[in-house]
Amino acid sequence: MKQLLSIFAVALLLVGCGSSNQNSTKQAENKTPANPVDYGNTITSDELKEMLYTYASDEFEGRETGEPGQKKAVNYLKEQYQKMGIPSPLSGDDYFQEVPLQKQKSPEASLSANGSDFEQFKDFLIIGSADTQTIDISNIVYVGHGIDAENYSDYKGLDVKGKIVLAKAGEPKDENGNYVTSGTTEETKWSSGRQSLSSKRNAAKDKGAKAIFHLEPSLFQRYADYYGAVAASGQAGRISLKSNEASSMFVMISETMATALYPKINEDATAKTIPVSLKLDIESQSENVASENVVAFIKGTEKPDEIVVISAHLDHEGVKDGKVYNGADDDGSGTVAILEIAEAFKTAADNGHGPKRSILFLHVTGEEKGLLGSRHYTDNDPIFPLENTVADLNIDMIGRTDPKRTEGDRNYVYLIGSDKLSTELHNLSEEVNKKYTNVELDYKYNDENDPNRFYYRSDHYNFAKNNIPVIFYFNGTHDDYHQPSDTPDKIEYDLLENRTRLVFYTAWEVANRDNRLVVDKAESK
Ligand SMILES: [Zn+2]
Repeated sequence: MKQLLSIFAVALLLVGCGSSNQNSTKQAENKTPANPVDYGNTITSDELKEMLYTYASDEFEGRETGEPGQKKAVNYLKEQYQKMGIPSPLSGDDYFQEVPLQKQKSPEASLSANGSDFEQFKDFLIIGSADTQTIDISNIVYVGHGIDAENYSDYKGLDVKGKIVLAKAGEPKDENGNYVTSGTTEETKWSSGRQSLSSKRNAAKDKGAKAIFHLEPSLFQRYADYYGAVAASGQAGRISLKSNEASSMFVMISETMATALYPKINEDATAKTIPVSLKLDIESQSENVASENVVAFIKGTEKPDEIVVISAHLDHEGVKDGKVYNGADDDGSGTVAILEIAEAFKTAADNGHGPKRSILFLHVTGEEKGLLGSRHYTDNDPIFPLENTVADLNIDMIGRTDPKRTEGDRNYVYLIGSDKLSTELHNLSEEVNKKYTNVELDYKYNDENDPNRFYYRSDHYNFAKNNIPVIFYFNGTHDDYHQPSDTPDKIEYDLLENRTRLVFYTAWEVANRDNRLVVDKAESK
């Protein structure tokens, strides 16, 4: 489970930033009907405990993305799948899906315009990381407030592809004092603050601009001081996905620099091309980080092209101030749950009761850094086409209880998202639970407007945003959440067993029912 981001992490977010051989497992024909209980019973608290005491031990150093502890974790997972005889969906014994990441650092940059030199962190600020390059141009396109809404666009009739645009903060009002995009006095996403920065950056990017220079005097100094201090300390910023698409640079500029580019910027909001002799030299300081998702696969017997994903994140917070953040609940619990579920499916397959649909066991990296491994899977490199992906059952923290939950059975689990896209998935989950596990299903956090925003805070979100039905299994937070005290001795293994079996039976039903899950509540994108 990812923590909510700080304001500056959100500011940094402004910048961003096949198919395969399907190994088949040998499956004998078995004419006797399968009873999933025979396989669900192979999921035991003893085995979960044994694995978790290894996976969340100090030896794994808190499994921080890109660090040696995370490498130990991925190798451990690979060995478990090899021992179980469950293949990878990738070629041969390659269980790792590379996830290219980078540690963002402000680039070194020098800029001159119309004969004057300007300084990074004093006159301008490149937000996030940028590639090494030289930009040498003779004009920029002034786009006024840089707004691009349905009923009002500063980009109307302009071609800014590959160009640098200049914009200023704020949103104009009409003669009645109403904002032009909303027609009311309510501020919009274009009007002010952080949200307007990202709206304007995205507008410039959508129009194909190479960079946007943005004047926002009320925020410039604060951001420049913060980024300047981080750069001076030599610390790297947050880790992000290395994007392979050309991204658009976001450059905040001081009033001094803005008026050097266009002296009338404060009075005039009319779009126009402005002759400027501008040279910007950038040297990237970002570091590459090698990381990987771990994938294993059981091929379906009847509908092998339809994929059921079972996911959990393999990473955690690492070591801080000499203390190991073991992450036993977060998300060691989900990780060992998947291993037990995989073993149950494999045992069934070996008995001639392999799942009709294929199952992908997906251990994602970089969750704590911003759901990066799952986003890489869905946005950059889905091993199986997303349109063939039937559901994602995501497990993140299922070994503890929520101290804030004072009523009800301790044998519970919070379900989030089950009814969001597929009514059928929600109903099937309820039925399966009644039939096999009798865990109290608590929907307290199944609300996108919940202030905790749990729906957006684990890896299922990247599947749900693609209209793939999800269920997120979660026990809630506790005093040891994201603390070095999240250790395996505090796990309630009987509960972990019940919840793991619930996910198994649900996956079993989704994989083996005659018809593919119906997505009756898809959202338009
Ligand atoms: Zn977490």
